Amino acid sequence: MEYVLDQIIKTKKQHVCGSKEWRILRVGVDIRLKCMGCGREIIMLRHELNKRVVGSKSTNT
Ligand SMILES: [Zn+2]
Repeated sequence: MEYVLDQIIKTKKQHVCGSKEWRILRVGVDIRLKCMGCGREIIMLRHELNKRVVGSKSTNT
C-alpha cells in the first residue's frame, strides 16, 4: 500500500477513543499518524501499518 500525506486510512482495530480513522502526517521508513477521533499522534513502522490497515477513505493524491 502506498501512503501519501493527508490521506485518511482505516485500521482493523479501533483506537482507545473508538475511531478507526487516521490522517497521515509524515511518510518515510516510519509513518506518523494522527487519530481522527482524539487527535493523538503515533509513529508506526511501514510494515507494521501494512498489517493493520484495511483501506483508505480518501484517494486524493
Ligand atoms: Zn483516538
